Amino acid sequence: MDHRYAQLYVGGGWVTPSTSHVITLVNPSTEARLGSVPEALEADVDVAVDAARRAFDEPGGWAHWAPEDRADVMERFATELEARAERIAGLVSSQNGLPISWARQLEVGYPTSVLRYYAGLARTTAFSEVRAGLLGGSIEVRKVPVGVVAAIVPWNYPQVLSMFKIAPAMAAGCTVVLKPSPEAALDAFLIAEAAEAAAVPAGVLNIVPGGREAGAHLVSHPRVDKVSFTGSTAAGRAIAEICGRLLRPVTLELGGKSAGIILDDAELDPVGIGEDLVAATLANNGQTCFLSTRILAPRTRYAEVIDLLTDLVRALPVGDALDESTLIGPMATRQQRDRVEGYIAKGRHEGARVTTGGGRPAGLDKGWFVEPTVFADVDNGFVVAQEEIFGPVLCVLPYDTVDDAVRIANDSDYGLGGTVWTADPERGADVARRVRTGTIGVNHYLPDPVAPFGGVKASGLGIELGPEGLEAYLQIQSVYL
Ligand code: NAD
Repeated sequence: MDHRYAQLYVGGGWVTPSTSHVITLVNPSTEARLGSVPEALEADVDVAVDAARRAFDEPGGWAHWAPEDRADVMERFATELEARAERIAGLVSSQNGLPISWARQLEVGYPTSVLRYYAGLARTTAFSEVRAGLLGGSIEVRKVPVGVVAAIVPWNYPQVLSMFKIAPAMAAGCTVVLKPSPEAALDAFLIAEAAEAAAVPAGVLNIVPGGREAGAHLVSHPRVDKVSFTGSTAAGRAIAEICGRLLRPVTLELGGKSAGIILDDAELDPVGIGEDLVAATLANNGQTCFLSTRILAPRTRYAEVIDLLTDLVRALPVGDALDESTLIGPMATRQQRDRVEGYIAKGRHEGARVTTGGGRPAGLDKGWFVEPTVFADVDNGFVVAQEEIFGPVLCVLPYDTVDDAVRIANDSDYGLGGTVWTADPERGADVARRVRTGTIGVNHYLPDPVAPFGGVKASGLGIELGPEGLEAYLQIQSVYL
């Protein structure tokens, strides 16, 4: 099916873009054309920011609504997204190669849970309190919405990462201009359709798919109040520089190269550990920021760990992302496939040993597939151990003591995710607490909407999810009474 959108969702309706430029979407499993959307240029971004600005500034506008009324709108929005669940899952899989079984859970169920969770927080959060002053009188301490939010997202989980920003922003009373990534712009139109059907007030959410230039224009736009960005560390640094100069609040969710520490007591049984280990290390064909792609194995059990991972990875069904049995789909773009293959070549050159994979899967002549790959004998100084590959490539490194494992885990520019695998969850939690990272799981990894999510070091600045994720869209005002 050729999905074609000709207009942009701005100001609560559909507007004609400033030019006839389009973004053409291609299915990475088949290389077939999937559809097209208008490419928003600077003039379109300006119109979207104006709409968001008006909706925020007008007397009685969204910022001034009672929080419970905003929550009602958000819940209607979630219901409308749920009504489009199968279309959303299918479009996301067809755009970025996320296996359809994963797309249903992560790109449909999860974003609406996040939206409903923040609707709940809008109902229960105290947006103001009165304190007795030490110097006499009293003070009203208010939490007010920060304003117009520029939300910029990547292609790997377009729905959920958009909702990580839209949901807390709406709950806070902010208005949003969302810029989806050009590689995954179609599914954003289903967000727009759902918002329209839910009667989200005009200008509260505006969607402008576009490239880096549109994103950069949005980030530095004089009428934007806050930037919330998910993407690469390189782009995050460029955005941070601009926001620093403008003194503009910014949340940055960036790349990762997390460690999966297998302790010496772990049960290395493919049935017991396999599914969780694959999810924590290879979800979305390795195109996930928090994956534990540096696996640290005790030297005494190194061969066993290599055998387990090799068997698990070799058995993963690779194929068209829309096939229900697929667990590893293609890379999202040809460029991404070439990049991953470049890293595999680099790993070999550095002396790492391929125990499975390393090439292109047989029998798949179309599509940007890479065989899921395990590298043994990796040193933490290797490029493949330090840089984010963003593909189905695992590096397995030996360690001697737990102190050694923690040191290697922390010897990274990044600090986003991580896991510890053990038969003793308390021991696992003790080790987890020693890793310098924003999030880490014991025997599994699943970012729960109630728990703050974010990175340290080159993985980002600030927090999404949890009540802390709402605070990121609020400013404090003290009124001395
Ligand atoms: P990217 O940085 O190239 O692009 C991300 C988004 O930013 C896109 O919409 C792009 O058009 C836009 N953009 C790029 N440069 C920009 C600039 N200078 N100013 C404004 N906007 C700009 O990243 P990508 O390749 O699309 O996504 C993969 C990266 O995202 C990986 O590094 C991954 O780890 C990271 N990521 C992080 C998280 C997280 O929560 N920490 C989640 C998912 C992905």
